[in-house]
Amino acid sequence: MDLRGKNAIVTGGSRGIGKAIALELAKNGANVLVNYTSNKAAAEATVKEMESYNVKAYAVQCNVTKSDDVKNMIKIAEENFETIDILVNNAGITKDNLLLRMKEEDWQQVMEVNLNGVFLCTKAVIRKMMKQKSGKIINISSVVGITGNAGQANYSASKAGVIGFTKSVAKEVATKNINVNAIAPGFIDTDMTAVLSEDIKNELIENIPLRRYGQPEDVAKLVLFLSSDFSNYITGQIISVDGGMAI
Ligand code: NDP
Repeated sequence: MDLRGKNAIVTGGSRGIGKAIALELAKNGANVLVNYTSNKAAAEATVKEMESYNVKAYAVQCNVTKSDDVKNMIKIAEENFETIDILVNNAGITKDNLLLRMKEEDWQQVMEVNLNGVFLCTKAVIRKMMKQKSGKIINISSVVGITGNAGQANYSASKAGVIGFTKSVAKEVATKNINVNAIAPGFIDTDMTAVLSEDIKNELIENIPLRRYGQPEDVAKLVLFLSSDFSNYITGQIISVDGGMAI
């Protein structure tokens, strides 16, 4: 898949799935801007790796919950990229607890990053994509946005929200040749899941038909496909990368 000449923004590209996505896009020729919140060193390391593929790469400090940060990130992208062809809304957090014990601020923070962040970043690029009459927006949802999960009411609600958002925006911008899709990863081996106990991990694997955790690259490969011309007739879809977890 040839993404040479294409320009991409990947939120949360400093670590985990976002980093794998940024590297996959760069490896296939795209120029990529990633954001980070506090982890500058990690974001700069991602940039160095991307540059080894002879593409332009940038790291920008941006909290996706802050409208001004997002506007500034897009301004920097526009200064460096003639077009914005690909937006990957990947930044996300968890604050797990049973509903009875869930603090209001934990509900709010998760919604702010996982759902409001997707809204702010998409809104910031959509006018440009509409003018270009082209664009690929890929939102990272989650298997639990489809199935729900005890202890993750906030996270599951935010990821289900991303699914509704994806389908609605896909309908709004389809005539402008913009494809909007979401990916629902299952259990992927990153910092986010590293905090789970061995007991929980062993229990989870029993529910994965392929009997293994996914790797960030498993998600990145699908993002590459959805960023490429091979996916031009696909929009408004939620595609699982979960080893069969949601079957
Ligand atoms: P990680 O915790 O490994 O990385 C999260 C990334 O998001 C980091 O780059 C972090 O930046 C960034 N980030 C967090 N908060 C903000 C914010 N407010 N503004 C901007 N960037 C922010 O997560 P994963 O790689 O595991 O997850 C990536 C996405 O995939 C998330 O949306 C997650 O919900 C989703 N997902 C993950 C699954 C898994 O099993 N891992 C399963 C299903 C979905 P910094 O480095 O600066 O902190």
